[in-house]
Amino acid sequence: MALIVHKYGGTSMGSTERIRLVAKRVAKWARAGHQMVVVPSAMSGETNRLLGLAKELSPQHEDSAHQRELDMLASTGEQASSALLAIALQAEGIEAVSYAGWQVPIRTNNAFTKARIESIDDQRVRQDLQAGRVVIITGFQGVDEDNNITTLGRGGSDTSAVAVAAALKAHECLIFTDVDGVYTSDPRVVPEARRLKTVSFEEMLEMASLGSKVLQIRSVEFAGKYKVPLRVLSSFTEWDIDIDEEAQSGTLITFEEDEQMEQAIVSGIAFNRDEAKISVISVPDKPGIAYQILGAVAQANIEVDMIIQNISKDGKTDFSFTVHRNDYSRAMDLLKAKVLPALGNPDVSGDTKICKVSIVGIGMRSHVGVASKMFRSLSEEGINIQMISTSEIKTSVVIDEKYMELAVRALHKAFDLEQNQA
Ligand code: ADP
Ligand code: ASP
Ligand code: MG
Repeated sequence: MALIVHKYGGTSMGSTERIRLVAKRVAKWARAGHQMVVVPSAMSGETNRLLGLAKELSPQHEDSAHQRELDMLASTGEQASSALLAIALQAEGIEAVSYAGWQVPIRTNNAFTKARIESIDDQRVRQDLQAGRVVIITGFQGVDEDNNITTLGRGGSDTSAVAVAAALKAHECLIFTDVDGVYTSDPRVVPEARRLKTVSFEEMLEMASLGSKVLQIRSVEFAGKYKVPLRVLSSFTEWDIDIDEEAQSGTLITFEEDEQMEQAIVSGIAFNRDEAKISVISVPDKPGIAYQILGAVAQANIEVDMIIQNISKDGKTDFSFTVHRNDYSRAMDLLKAKVLPALGNPDVSGDTKICKVSIVGIGMRSHVGVASKMFRSLSEEGINIQMISTSEIKTSVVIDEKYMELAVRALHKAFDLEQNQA
């Protein structure tokens, strides 16, 4: 008997029929003698629907104007699905109780719409588990110290589940979703993508941060910090599949490098269409310029991802960086109003039709020529690279958005990802 956390995403909870199947699956685990905690997402589309209603009422306001209320609103999606799952479990003859974040409580900071979990009180949950109840805890939400409801950012139920698993020292956290594991690339874009039986924590962290939305990045960070055994698997198998077989299915996130038998040089290709590029043209090449531009951007709480500065010509240089597309207009307005006048009003140009494509693999540490193979493969497809950034285990490039699928597929092939066995 073990304490197990299951998380079910939006598609898995997408209708009453799907919720019934989730209940049957959870009941199977409970009947096998496990102590079960389940963290559901809102039914698919519900969070978007709710946020869309807010936009209808306040189209002229940036989301930031109503952040507290947006959390109050969006959190209801998870509250509804959690209660429905408890009802479905009770209908299966399983004792179950659902809790909103504040009832546990899951304490967060007060950064509405992107709050961070600070602590989880396990007392109430443990009492229920000891009494033989299945405990359902709303994903995506928590409560700040002033008892305001907060949410954890899109995809945040993954983080709720891993944090709950860490707080309860669960034997394993199983993330049930609409794919049967972590693939070499998003199978929706690369049909030849192959499921990985294991992926190292470091690679998963990179892949999540570079755009593979199969796990929210903070959930991977939590798993790493608290060494939570984490597995991604499908909720679309038959619910009564053998439990031991199910427990071994999907993709296991591993913490030991040597657990990976045959280490591929590149394990995965990630991509991200959420960024936009801003270039300031012909700024004086002298100390303090990067700070003048990016300092103002950072002060406005806009995160910058990639940065490049060209070598200078006649004492002038071009300076480019990327921001999230949602922050693009704000960053442009800020530059034009506050930063560029002090630099002699240099030209500024922007491009929202870019994407970032990245290769990820811990094998890159010990192999040379991996990045150049990436560049060759893109050049063979006639794809121009606009920006490059590298770290020990990844290389990312910014390219024109229209070549994204071509680039991802070409790289997948170039690194033999469809052929190797995991
Ligand atoms: P859930 O609602 O269960 O949280 P998500 O839509 O957030 O599900 O995440 C699952 C999706 O992630 C898959 O349907 C898939 O399209 C996408 N995805 C992106 N990259 C990968 C990858 N490398 N491996 C598997 N799935 C991926
Ligand atoms: N329902 C939230 C979202 O759509 C959280 C989640 O599904 O993980 O982002
Ligand atoms: Mg998700």
